[in-house]
Amino acid sequence: MSADHNSDRWSREHARELDQQDPLSGFRDEFYLNKDVIYFDGNSLGLLSKRAEQSVQEVMDSWKRYGIDGWTSGEHPWYYMAETLGNLSATLLGAGQEEVVITGSTTVNLHQLVAAFYQPNGNRTKILADELNFPSDIYALQSQLRQKGYEPNEHLVQVKSTDGKTLDEEAIIAEMSDEIALIVLPSVLYRSGQIIDMKRLTEAAHSRGILIGFDLCHSIGAVPHQLDEWGVDFAFWCTYKHLNGGPGSVGGLYVNRRHFGKAPGLAGWFSSDKEKQFDMEHTLTPASTAGAFQIGTPHILSMAPLIGSLNMFEEAGMDRIRSKSLQLTDYLLYLIDHFLAGYHFTVANPLMHKARGGHVFLEHEEAVRICKALKEAGVVPDFRSPNGIRLAPVALYNTFEEVWQVVDILHTIMVEERYKQFEKKREVIA
Ligand SMILES: *Cc1c(COP(=O)(O)O)cnc(C)c1O
Repeated sequence: MSADHNSDRWSREHARELDQQDPLSGFRDEFYLNKDVIYFDGNSLGLLSKRAEQSVQEVMDSWKRYGIDGWTSGEHPWYYMAETLGNLSATLLGAGQEEVVITGSTTVNLHQLVAAFYQPNGNRTKILADELNFPSDIYALQSQLRQKGYEPNEHLVQVKSTDGKTLDEEAIIAEMSDEIALIVLPSVLYRSGQIIDMKRLTEAAHSRGILIGFDLCHSIGAVPHQLDEWGVDFAFWCTYKHLNGGPGSVGGLYVNRRHFGKAPGLAGWFSSDKEKQFDMEHTLTPASTAGAFQIGTPHILSMAPLIGSLNMFEEAGMDRIRSKSLQLTDYLLYLIDHFLAGYHFTVANPLMHKARGGHVFLEHEEAVRICKALKEAGVVPDFRSPNGIRLAPVALYNTFEEVWQVVDILHTIMVEERYKQFEKKREVIA
């Protein structure tokens, strides 16, 4: 960086210089940004891009124009869209194209995969998870255990966190006993943003004869993956966070090719080999790829934004996205350290690049009210009960200058104690 001649590394001017050197800066113009708002919540719901809007329009047009023939005609034939978009996602995952399919949702895909991969046998009847995961994953695992006749209190092992924020890989490995049949963990923790070492845990699991799958909701589109190289058994994710697929956009799943041929846990006619599906036989011939883990008719209209959105990821490249994301969070942490020292914030995300996901996590006992004050000042953060503030500067559409502004606004809120005019109570959606 040629900023040596710039005496003030904490100035807004310096932030603008960083923006000028940003190779991804052109993508910002492709998104719909409200000019009065700084959006730092792309890890909950990514923003709409013009390309995503365009692809929705194209799919609507093919419905308008072709009716039922849209399944096989037009620019994006619906019948193949789950597979086509899976192919387009493969580079984000370090996966082969046939190992990925766009289908279902995080929770549905978790159910589907656990129904297939959790095969209690002899002494191995337990599922290993953690105590920091998103509740939906835990509810799904509990109900999957009940489906197979096991009591979750005894058969779901949740690794403890010593600091309530992060997980220690040693502690996870220590729980990999010969009673564990399956492990399901997040790749990046949704609160602290800690990246879990998937390679190391996969090796440890496999050397003990245990299958392992990961929830990639907070890593896909933010952090590169090498699922094939690491040998992960399966993975699943949503596409409305870093992938900007829109509210309720269709999720995705990965099945390592060594498991091709495994029967889907929850079968349906879209599990079929595509050539055979319309033979309408009562004996299912599953697809020979990850496509076998689909269930019913794909939600085409909720998949359509991904055509445009994934295309942008392809163009931007995961390495450049990760590199800018780390620069943004580095810069945010650096400014927080400088401007907010003395205001009782605790930085609760890992500092090492290797363990830091796409967002910064601050803890403060006034977090609820500080988030309300931020919103009033035109900043969209993400409050996480009871005391967490997630700030996600997103590589494709946020700027270094916005990072500077957010810290400046936060500083003013603290100096003027502006948060005190709000009620200390979270909203229904927080
Ligand atoms: C966002 C998120 C979910 C949401 O699940 P849906 O089925 O998409 O509603 C689940 N798990 C994790 C870890 C998440 O971050």
